[in-house]
Amino acid sequence: MGILEVKGVNKRFGGLKALNEVNIGIEAGTVHAIIGPNGAGKSTLLNCLVGRLEPDTGTVDFDGVSLLNRQPHEINQLGISRVFQTPEIFGELSLVENVMIPALAKRDGPFSLDAWSEVGGQKDVLDRAMAMLEDVNLGEKANVSAKELSRGDKRRLELAMCLVQDPKLLLLDEPTAGMSRADTNNTIDLLKKIGERGITKIVIEHDMHVVFSLANKVSVMAQGTVIAEGKPEQIKGDPRVQEAYLGGAHL
Ligand code: ADP
Ligand code: MG
Repeated sequence: MGILEVKGVNKRFGGLKALNEVNIGIEAGTVHAIIGPNGAGKSTLLNCLVGRLEPDTGTVDFDGVSLLNRQPHEINQLGISRVFQTPEIFGELSLVENVMIPALAKRDGPFSLDAWSEVGGQKDVLDRAMAMLEDVNLGEKANVSAKELSRGDKRRLELAMCLVQDPKLLLLDEPTAGMSRADTNNTIDLLKKIGERGITKIVIEHDMHVVFSLANKVSVMAQGTVIAEGKPEQIKGDPRVQEAYLGGAHL
C-alpha cells in the first residue's frame, strides 16, 4: 500500500473529461513526478488531492484515510502541503510572517489575518519560521516584504511555507516554472536537500531536466489519462510518451 492511492478518479468540466479513470499509487519516501503536455489534467488531479476539487467518481486515500469530501484545511492538517503553480503569498507581510501563517494554520486550523495581532509574537513559531527561511537560503531577507522578492525567491519562500508544516506529503506544481536555468538548478539542489528529510513528494513538471534529476518514478498523463508509468529511464524511451510530447520535442 502506498502513502497515497488514487483509484478510478474521473472529473468532468461540462463536456470536457479532464480526468479519465486515473489510477496512481505513491510510495512513501519517494519522489514521484507527474508529467504530460499542457491540458493533460495534472493540476486538476492535484486539486482533487487537496480538496479544491471533488472527483466525480473514484477514491483518494492518504495514509489509509479517504480524502473525499474534506475541506482543504483538513487535508492540510492530515499532512499534505502544496506549492502552487502560481505562488500564493501575502505581499504586504514580511517573509518570516508569511512562513508563520501556515505553521499556525497547521496547528490551529483555518487562519484569518484578522487574528494576526494576537499570534504575531509567538516565539516558538517565529523561531521555527526563521529556521525554515535559513534552510531555503532566505534567512537574510526574513524582514523584507514578500512583494519585494524575485520570482525565484518567491518560490523558495513558498517552499519554506510548506516545510514549516512538517508535511508527510509535499505536492509541487511546476516548482521551476518561469525560472532561469541557474534558479532551476538551485531549486533542484534545494529539493534534493529537503529530500533527505524523507518527505514523500509529488512533482508536476514540464522541465525534463528537473524530472530526471529528482524523480524515482514517473507517471505520464495525456488527455486526462495516465498513459505510461515507470522509472525515469524507462519513461524516456517509451514511444507513447514521445508521441504525447509531439515527436519527443520535450524529451
Ligand atoms: P495541466 O495542469 O496538465 O496543464 P489542467 O489540469 O490544468 O492541465 O487542465 C486539464 C483540462 O481541464 C484542460 O483542458 C483545462 O482547460 C480544463 N480545466 C481545468 N480546470 C478547469 C475548470 N475549473 N473549468 C473548466 N475547465 C477546466
Ligand atoms: Mg497545470
